[in-house]
Amino acid sequence: MKNTFRVFATCDIGPALDVLRKRGYQLEVYPDPKAPPKSLILDKLRSGIDGLITTLRDQVDAEVFEAGRGTLKVVAQYAVGFDNINRADANRYKVPFTNTADVLTEATAEFAFFLMGELARQLWPAEHLTRENKWGFWHPYLPFLGDEVTGKTIAIIGTGRIGMAMIKKCAGFDMNILCYDPAYQNREFIKGIQETMDLRHARGIQKEQTFIKYVSFEEALGEADFVSVHVPLVREGESSTPTFHLFDERTLRRMKPTAYLVNTSRGPVIDQDALARALRENWIAGAALDVYEKEPLPADSPLRDPAIADRCRLLPHFASAGKITRLSSDPDRGMAGRCVQGLVDVLEGNYDGQVKKMPYVVNKEAF
Ligand code: NAD
Repeated sequence: MKNTFRVFATCDIGPALDVLRKRGYQLEVYPDPKAPPKSLILDKLRSGIDGLITTLRDQVDAEVFEAGRGTLKVVAQYAVGFDNINRADANRYKVPFTNTADVLTEATAEFAFFLMGELARQLWPAEHLTRENKWGFWHPYLPFLGDEVTGKTIAIIGTGRIGMAMIKKCAGFDMNILCYDPAYQNREFIKGIQETMDLRHARGIQKEQTFIKYVSFEEALGEADFVSVHVPLVREGESSTPTFHLFDERTLRRMKPTAYLVNTSRGPVIDQDALARALRENWIAGAALDVYEKEPLPADSPLRDPAIADRCRLLPHFASAGKITRLSSDPDRGMAGRCVQGLVDVLEGNYDGQVKKMPYVVNKEAF
């Protein structure tokens, strides 16, 4: 079947775009690796495109929907997070938008786990020691020691898809797990993890008995050796459980001074100035971040302070950056494949044209 749909992609999402080309779509891909200016996106919309492929770098709001009024049929977001898309505006203009949930869940969770290990076991300063030829002797405790992850307690903030995947990985490392999520509590999943822990202990596979349970935010912060954040970015007024600056001076001070914070969710969930102070003044032991209030991380960010470098790992929004996760054309394996499929579903009227039934559409409530 030949289609005449016109699509503009604000970024090259790889070979999965050939699916559209083969179907006869007129596809234009913004060639620069940096995000296009909004004015260019508005021009494309005014020229009458049917579909827009976006990344988290593009602001999609009333101005965008107004420019596409009457012609824009779908926005396909190449990410699970969609805090760059104004949902209320999309609903007002009745434009469905899709995301790429699920396919990046395990990649993001394993990255959070690796960051936790890198931070706790001091891998970064230890490698520097070796590379800079400052490794002068083997010694029981000099020049520093790390903290083990095995057997410790982790707080999972947000027990959605990625939070649950992180729980699976932490359970495999014999960790105790405290869960906090005011909006969604998967009790069956938690029960299954506890049964797995019990079985592993009973069979001698893990030495210590471990536990998993839902607790309050305060208890999670106060008891945990590690805190890993897996919430969406939701601002005041967008939900009854906003996450903007969920971690600020007050909540950071509730963590143990020996605890580590890992954030692979969205930057503005943490007040970065407060976190930099928390690290400088030793309110907490360390932090590993993949996401920032402003991306890329500005040169003058207080998080770059050399005085906290050994206790602050900084990664470039990289958690989903596995080859299959990012690029596979298979909608069940890759973000690119799922993004393209979400766009095709809407434009070609799959599922009898019923937007509500389309699995990758987020704002089903508007239809
Ligand atoms: P999800 O919707 O399945 O899970 C999010 C969970 O957070 C939900 O269970 C929700 O109830 C909970 N939540 C909402 N408000 C909360 C609050 N105030 N306190 C605690 N929990 C709260 O989403 P997901 O697929 O697990 O993804 C989570 C987020 O991770 C995405 O929204 C995205 O921003 C981020 N993410 C980042 C990367 C990366 O590359 N760093 C990759 C993938 C996802």
